[in-house]
Amino acid sequence: MIKDHISHSQIQTGRCMLKYKKLVIDEEYHTGNERQTLGNCVHKIVYTYGKHLLKEKMDADYDAMVKIIDHYFDEFNLSENLYRDVRKALILFGERGMSFEKVLDLEKLWKIEFSKGKFIYAVIDRINTYQVGSKTIIEIIDYKNHLNILSKTDVDNHEQLALYRYLACRFIHKGFDKVRVGIHHLMHNWITWGEMRSIDDLGREFEAMEGYLLRQYARLLEKGNFEPTMGNQCYEYGGCPILLDGKCPLFKKKKVEEIYRSNDVKSMVTIIRTMDMHRQQMIDRVKDLVKDKTFFEVEGKLAGYVPGDSYSYDAAKVIDFCKRYNVSCDLKDFNVKSVERLFKDYFKPDYKGIEPEIVKLRIIKKSTRFSYK
Ligand code: SF4
Repeated sequence: MIKDHISHSQIQTGRCMLKYKKLVIDEEYHTGNERQTLGNCVHKIVYTYGKHLLKEKMDADYDAMVKIIDHYFDEFNLSENLYRDVRKALILFGERGMSFEKVLDLEKLWKIEFSKGKFIYAVIDRINTYQVGSKTIIEIIDYKNHLNILSKTDVDNHEQLALYRYLACRFIHKGFDKVRVGIHHLMHNWITWGEMRSIDDLGREFEAMEGYLLRQYARLLEKGNFEPTMGNQCYEYGGCPILLDGKCPLFKKKKVEEIYRSNDVKSMVTIIRTMDMHRQQMIDRVKDLVKDKTFFEVEGKLAGYVPGDSYSYDAAKVIDFCKRYNVSCDLKDFNVKSVERLFKDYFKPDYKGIEPEIVKLRIIKKSTRFSYK
């Protein structure tokens, strides 16, 4: 069906116009893969829980969260065994809750005429507001349930958040003094905030965003050119469904197999990056906790910090990781070498063939800088 509006997900899909034609206009491949089902379920749970807190005027309600999780896990047919981590993360989210008094909007669909006769639709996960001294603050929050945690720079340069900030401050809630955007990483119950900005200083960015949207509008709705274009869109979210279906004219069968395998590598890398980040956070926390002790015990094993030497305080996480992938890993360090060993253990004889790919991906955090081109 030809659309009469654009949205952020359409702009993303439209980086390849063949994908846009198949997924958005022809509405093919809409069942989604397992990861997308999980994502939808998590969103539904968080949204239902948020609504419940607002209705009951509560900051947190653990019992209600457990019931909501059970209900939607059942409805989406998700096995608790497979998604125990997700369940745990959601329960943590339920325990911490949110300050209901700050919430201005929760997952509302906005239909906005950003230019005469041109509409954009957006669902903003959460908008908060509060007062600091004489200043009114607005916060725009997007929920993500991937494992990697974005940095402050990533958040400041995030296309979707820049767009939502523009829509919120220009059209939805005018008259605030300051704004900041944030990504709530549901799997870690952690929000990475961007810079707090004065709304008066954002005029040029808002103009640039309007120009960007006008160009996207023309490209998606007015031109009718449906050529395939290779890029990140072929690989993200587990791979383009047209590609995985073997129907993309730009990829041969061999490449499709490589992508399937590279998805495995990428999930490993994501997990390792996350573990590494946890490890660094734990080091700081534990340094504080055990100022005068050198070692302590985690799950029956010693872990500790020796100044100037290699160490890992995140022993529990490493043990958990090793158990999950059925590999052994020495607890002292979680450096490039031990990561390499984890990969070798996991991929066994295939490791040699995919080593260059792993080296390319390993622990290198790519910034997702956004430009208005
Ligand atoms: S795999 Fe093909 S159809 Fe899919 S995004 Fe890439 S070029 Fe487009």
